[in-house]
Amino acid sequence: MTEINNNEFDNMDFNIPPEMLDEIQRNIEDIINNFPVPESNKLDVIKKINFMYSHTRHLSLTDPLTGLYNRRHLDNNLEREFLRAKRYKNDLSIAVIDIDFFKKVNDTHGHLCGDYVLKEVSYMILDTLRKTDMVFRYGGEEFVAILTETPLEKAVIPLERLREKVENYPFSFGGKELKVTISIGVSSSEKEFSNASEFLDSADKALYNAKNTGRNRVITA
Ligand code: GH3
Ligand code: MG
Ligand code: MG
Repeated sequence: MTEINNNEFDNMDFNIPPEMLDEIQRNIEDIINNFPVPESNKLDVIKKINFMYSHTRHLSLTDPLTGLYNRRHLDNNLEREFLRAKRYKNDLSIAVIDIDFFKKVNDTHGHLCGDYVLKEVSYMILDTLRKTDMVFRYGGEEFVAILTETPLEKAVIPLERLREKVENYPFSFGGKELKVTISIGVSSSEKEFSNASEFLDSADKALYNAKNTGRNRVITA
């Protein structure tokens, strides 16, 4: 019987008391033991159950259009990264990225073109930020990036590069070229926040300022 690795459960978005975990493991063992397959195939059954579990978990944490992590996963991670940065006095920055006048893209070029732009911008965000950063689709045309071990002045550098990259990228859909820009609000843990949502809120306010001061810019909190 395979051992359940309890570290796997540390990252999950629900808390199960250890005694209940034991109970669940016993039940799974029961199911596998009573599964109508020859003993020689039991390992395949276990592998298949493991695969189905990780596949379902992946689906529940990602956005199908862009492949980015979804808002549920942001909720799982933001609080933890916030507490980690506070406890160990690490630098942590958070950026809220929003596509400018995106409604107009849909209205002028159609919803499919809007989806194309969302996918391209998502790819550009992932491509520009570090592998250790985490990128989430927060809402329709809004993304959140958690930049770990990054103070505000260092966060601004790749975000400004991203802004320029999107501005200069030759978006093309159905034979038509279009221009897209993004606005970014960024905040960092150098300021003292009492909780993660206050932290996110400050980046969101900076985004609001970016929108109100002409868009296509990176504004710090
Ligand atoms: P602003 O510069 O102030 O951000 O203006 P905006 O037009 O980008 O913002 P607004 O919130 O008015 O419009 C967002 C649009 O995003 C409206 C909605 O139709 C579109 N949208 C949301 N999700 C999707 C999606 O999955 N696909 C497509 N194609 N469009 C989407
Ligand atoms: Mg927008
Ligand atoms: Mg928006």
